[in-house]
Amino acid sequence: MTKPALDFVIAALEKIRESANRAPRASQTVLARLQASDPVAASPREARASPAARRLQLTPNKAELLEPVRERVCACTKCAHLACSRTQTVFGVGNPDADLMFIGEAPGVDEDQQGEPFVGRAGQLLTKILKAMNFTREDVYIANILKCRPDTTPGSFGNRAPTPTEMQTCRPYLVEQIEIIQPKVLVALGAVAVEGLLGMRGTMREMRGRWHTYNGIPLMITYHPAYLLRNQAPSEKRKVWEDMLQVLERLDQPVTERQRNYFL
Ligand code: URA
Repeated sequence: MTKPALDFVIAALEKIRESANRAPRASQTVLARLQASDPVAASPREARASPAARRLQLTPNKAELLEPVRERVCACTKCAHLACSRTQTVFGVGNPDADLMFIGEAPGVDEDQQGEPFVGRAGQLLTKILKAMNFTREDVYIANILKCRPDTTPGSFGNRAPTPTEMQTCRPYLVEQIEIIQPKVLVALGAVAVEGLLGMRGTMREMRGRWHTYNGIPLMITYHPAYLLRNQAPSEKRKVWEDMLQVLERLDQPVTERQRNYFL
């Protein structure tokens, strides 16, 4: 690209930033092309880059950064037994720019069929909890430790917990997702999610309801919605809700009196 053409592009992008009051976004491909074709930035003469070029910081698009990870997950056969038994991989869903990210255990039968995390009964309860927090599924990001449904023996009923080896094998994908999304707050749903993420085994009683950290990101540990389906006591629902109130406060979200009193 010639210098006048580059200046024209930069001016147009700056205009977007000023009028939309946000940084313009560009895909990795576009960024790479711009860098390769920018005779100023691509050479040692970088120091001569115009002030406009130096001020312009193109932020990479998180959705596009997630795509190659999704593709690798889709083609993954690291756990040969799961690659054989799965209907499809279940990558993650929601807003790649979310401030809040939920981490579950592994897809169940419904998730395996639909290719989306938390769409079965436990998922419907998670959606309700989100609604009570004034969020939709599109506002947050939801992913699991495992991207494949743990296989079960034919004729058996229900789900099996992921093995430590399966979790270790799949964990790098989740690590990449978190690195790209960079949420302000993480929520781990249940002890298995905690073990998969932190490599730490503990009882929910001692881990939930207080702040932990993962790579500098505040992490709230709470019960898995499936636990609330098994144990319908209002006291357990209230515990999860109190954990979510802490999350809302950490995100500087307004909390109404009505919200504060839920499940009381
Ligand atoms: N349970 C999980 O942990 N994840 C899902 O996606 C569904 C149920």
